[in-house]
Amino acid sequence: MAKAVIVGGGFAGCTAACMLKEKHFDVTVIEASGVLGGGCRTYFYHGHPYTFGPHHLLINIEDTNVYDYFSKFLTLRELRHHCLTYVSEDDRFYTYPIHADEIKEMPDKDIIYGEIEKGRNAGTPENFEQYWINSVGNTLYDKFINTYSKKMWQIKNNKMIDEFAFSPKGLPLKEGSKQCFEGKKIVAYPVELDGFNSYFDRCVEGCKVLLNSPVTRFDIDQRGVIVNDELIRGDILINTASIDQVFDYMYGELKYIGRALLKVILPVERVTPEPYYFIHYAGDEPYTRIVEYKLLTGYQSPDTLIGIEFPSTENKLYPYPLKSEIEKAKRYIGQLPQNVYTLGRLGKYHYDNMDIIVKDCMELMKVI
Ligand SMILES: Cc1cc2nc3c(=O)[nH]c(=O)nc-3n(C[C@H](O)[C@H](O)[C@H](O)COP(=O)(O)OP(=O)(O)OC[C@H]3O[C@@H](n4cnc5c(N)ncnc54)[C@H](O)[C@@H]3O)c2cc1C
Repeated sequence: MAKAVIVGGGFAGCTAACMLKEKHFDVTVIEASGVLGGGCRTYFYHGHPYTFGPHHLLINIEDTNVYDYFSKFLTLRELRHHCLTYVSEDDRFYTYPIHADEIKEMPDKDIIYGEIEKGRNAGTPENFEQYWINSVGNTLYDKFINTYSKKMWQIKNNKMIDEFAFSPKGLPLKEGSKQCFEGKKIVAYPVELDGFNSYFDRCVEGCKVLLNSPVTRFDIDQRGVIVNDELIRGDILINTASIDQVFDYMYGELKYIGRALLKVILPVERVTPEPYYFIHYAGDEPYTRIVEYKLLTGYQSPDTLIGIEFPSTENKLYPYPLKSEIEKAKRYIGQLPQNVYTLGRLGKYHYDNMDIIVKDCMELMKVI
């Protein structure tokens, strides 16, 4: 039986383990922490289930194979996703993504309409700031995007961002329904109160799992890793740890931004106004987002748990959308020898939701 060694027992590592098992590999998963699931693991705070930042499934409607994949393991409840953004200069909440219909309620609507018209004729943007100004004009950019993005990435200037597919999420200007992703994505959450936890356990059933076992060094020519001073080798090696670590940071360390999560229980059934349960803060508040978890998890309680997210340099969560960092990651990935693969948000240095990771794993299985 061919042997597969997987570094990292997060969502990507567990998913790869599950698929390799089906291909009859003898799989070993090596996880630094004491639990499986990485960023997607559900924990409990005074009975309330939560993940570190919300973790609902956002699956492209056409990706029925991905939805079916999740449904094999979990009972899913479909959700309608609604977001608000607080704009302190207008002293009010608007829906997010910025909705075309709400411009008429803004105090500076005439300026905004003029700017949108002007932006429509603008050329190809070179950076994140230009992209947004061209799309929605200076005023909306300043209200919704400018400060939020600088806060999110802890940067002084949004011109630094030259990859802008991701943050802040969403379309430049939404029309029609105010429901996020309507007609584009299925939004869903496991019915099980422990979220995806049972998925991780099922994925690694029959595999060898080493918890509390950080990989401290890679020996990729041997398709091996060093754990507790021991070399563990495979016929194939799949990495989901940060790709710079695989090469002992030879081209330099990759830059990430993290999050701190403040959990607060409030003595009310529900705190956010229906149908909203995600609130972004676009100004210089120290936090980026508030999420009311029970609206995702379905947990029943007379109290409610909100998670408040603060940008932090204490953990590695979001790869930076900077060309220099993306190029650095590509240089690392280009050095991988045969039968060594890299997956996941750290392994590929790319922010991907769970659905994309499933797709990546499916693609990988075609070449293994
Ligand atoms: C705040 C936030 C909110 C998010 N919300 C959503 C959402 O709503 N929907 C969605 O689909 N996705 C969401 N995501 C993305 C989702 O978290 C990722 O898709 C998923 O976690 C990626 O899985 P992964 O295995 O690549 O990384 P992780 O889940 O982070 O797992 C990596 C694992 O590798 C381990 N590891 C790292 N280095 C080593 C080492 N040297 N040795 C051994 N083990 C190691 C870590 O301990 C960890 O368990 C969100 C992400 C963030 C940051």
